[in-house]
Amino acid sequence: MFCNVFNSAICAVIITRLNGFAKGFSIKCFLYLSGCVFVMKEYDLILIGTGSGMELVEAMTQEKPNLRVAVIDKDEPGGICLTRGCIPSKLLLYPADIVRTVEKSREFGIHTEIKRIDFKAVMDRMRSIINRDINIIRNGLSKSKNIDYYTDQTEFTAPYTLNVGNATITSRMIFLCTGSRPSIPPIEGLIETGYLTSDTILRISELPHSIAIIGGGYIAAEYGHFLSAMGSKVTIIGRNPQFIPEEEPEISALAKWEMQKRVTILTNHEVRKVEATPEGKKLTAFDRYNKKETEIVAEEILVATGRRSNSDILHPEKAGIATDSKGFIIADEYMQTSQPNIWVLGDADGKFMFKHVANYEARIVYYNAVLNKKIKVDYHAVPHAVFTDPEIASVALREKEAVEKYGKDNILIGFFKYADTAKGEAMARKYDFVKVIVKRDTGKILGAHILGPQASVLIQEIVNLMYTEKQSFEPLNEAMHIHPALSEVVARAFQSLMIPDQYHHYLEEHSNLPIV
Ligand SMILES: Cc1cc2nc3c(=O)[nH]c(=O)nc-3n(C[C@H](O)[C@H](O)[C@H](O)COP(=O)(O)OP(=O)(O)OC[C@H]3O[C@@H](n4cnc5c(N)ncnc54)[C@H](O)[C@@H]3O)c2cc1C
Repeated sequence: MFCNVFNSAICAVIITRLNGFAKGFSIKCFLYLSGCVFVMKEYDLILIGTGSGMELVEAMTQEKPNLRVAVIDKDEPGGICLTRGCIPSKLLLYPADIVRTVEKSREFGIHTEIKRIDFKAVMDRMRSIINRDINIIRNGLSKSKNIDYYTDQTEFTAPYTLNVGNATITSRMIFLCTGSRPSIPPIEGLIETGYLTSDTILRISELPHSIAIIGGGYIAAEYGHFLSAMGSKVTIIGRNPQFIPEEEPEISALAKWEMQKRVTILTNHEVRKVEATPEGKKLTAFDRYNKKETEIVAEEILVATGRRSNSDILHPEKAGIATDSKGFIIADEYMQTSQPNIWVLGDADGKFMFKHVANYEARIVYYNAVLNKKIKVDYHAVPHAVFTDPEIASVALREKEAVEKYGKDNILIGFFKYADTAKGEAMARKYDFVKVIVKRDTGKILGAHILGPQASVLIQEIVNLMYTEKQSFEPLNEAMHIHPALSEVVARAFQSLMIPDQYHHYLEEHSNLPIV
């Protein structure tokens, strides 16, 4: 923020800023105080975070060619999804899926063998695709005549006022798209021993022989799938009694059963101590159920224990912006913060940390902040997927939540196994299934949960119906489904509705299923 010596570098900064002025930016003033330079600038819009918020800037600058925008991101441009989230992880998971498909081919009488996995090539491919896209975005940001692109960390100093680099910038409209970052639990010895996160794992080129993943959620599950398919010995250690606790218990149980064929999964275990030993990194985990300690030794550790807010860096409190107890920025139903015309979207609000939610919230911000509409945000059908083997996808309410909200007597559950459709049988998907929850009187879809191939694609049919007026499954029932396609399993789940007791009775009766 402050420069001690008025040197040529600072002249360069001023010249750059003056060039900015020539492009239409308003520089309020420069103050030269005993060698210190303060640049003060006012913008029409300040955007922090170059992920989903960038779509807003693009739309706004197209509409208003003279708009003056400050775009700030301390990290590589493109946001978490591109630089260290969805996209790199899915670029890695696809080769993992290939490995598992090749392995399964034996079941079908096809005897193949994986001779060698070039782990560095898998990682390099991911990095080159990501870097290509980052560079495209960086170029676009640097060359835009509307945008001043700041690559420093920024923080509020007062309402509508931020410090960034050597500048103090202000705007009456600010979009906070500051995302989230890995949360690191305070485990004894963890920092000293060293660990990877979902950010830093993207930089490795050598596969660890063994890896202990602390955390049992979706990031742990996806990286567990990837690393084990590449050949690492993986142990997942989760605190929660349920593996991937956000899912329906049946889904989690089956996912655990399937993944345990290749990965050691400890649930209900809390890692309490980590230390470096000659054999590797030693983790001491405490079984919260039987109170016993277990030791796991691995070459590397990946911490995947959730995400935390970036408010400790941004200091929204200095701008009068309210946050919740975990520091996530509180949005009203229009995505506005407690400070008028300061808007928030994406992970920064801590609600549903998915890219498609961030994109959706960006749309709501656009309607309300830019077009001055009054559109309420609507989270009734937020889908998500976990790209493990098998894949998991889910939307809206789980059974327990539906019972709590509507009462057990007012809901019906549909269940159908992939294997009971022609395509599912062809694919030998013995246990995979679709579970749907509907309102008994109207057929309104309340939730759906799928475990099996293409779950993320299959669920979309249901999500789309949840955006119709009645949200009923009836159109799906009426529509022809291509035979014999996997989509038949979704249709059949809705055709096999039963009361919750009957559903649980069915699960018990079929106790050969690994989900009860
Ligand atoms: C491993 C992993 C896998 C994922 N997989 C999926 C998936 O498959 N599907 C899915 O939907 N979602 C997935 N996600 C979640 C998804 O990536 C995020 O929900 C989404 O990218 C959030 O976007 P955003 O616009 O809120 O933040 P972004 O704009 O993407 O990120 C915020 C940016 O702001 C910067 N910033 C923050 N504070 C400051 C500050 N004070 N000064 C300057 N810069 C700042 C940050 O450094 C960051 O670059 C995954 C996440 C991870 C970590």
